[in-house]
Amino acid sequence: MNEVLEQALDLVLRDIRSTGVPEPDVRDDDWADGEHSASAFLWSRDGSGVGVRVDLAASEADRVAQVADQIQEWVIQELWGHAATNWPRCPDHPDGHPLQASTRDRSAVWVCPAEGIPVSPVGSLR
Ligand SMILES: [Zn+2]
Repeated sequence: MNEVLEQALDLVLRDIRSTGVPEPDVRDDDWADGEHSASAFLWSRDGSGVGVRVDLAASEADRVAQVADQIQEWVIQELWGHAATNWPRCPDHPDGHPLQASTRDRSAVWVCPAEGIPVSPVGSLR
């Protein structure tokens, strides 16, 4: 798998493990065209898969935020109908919105979308 994509995926998978939500089976399958992107597939236990793609020309922080955003979408689909779907949960609004992947000072962070406040670097959720 492309190293840049793998590094970004590793960080987000750390957040999945530390928060105990379903983890995708990540398969190396570079489906996206173009030399400026790297891609893979996220498979679910039910046999469905979705693509994840990263823009290799983006900054490292942006790439991690891009991957975090796509993995978040996958996790929300997995939780749908079984559990609360607001992953990652906002510590200030635990019954409301999930956190949002963004960048601050050249780092990828999870942000409270209501207040715009960074809660945790991507890869360091508790
Ligand atoms: Zn919030």
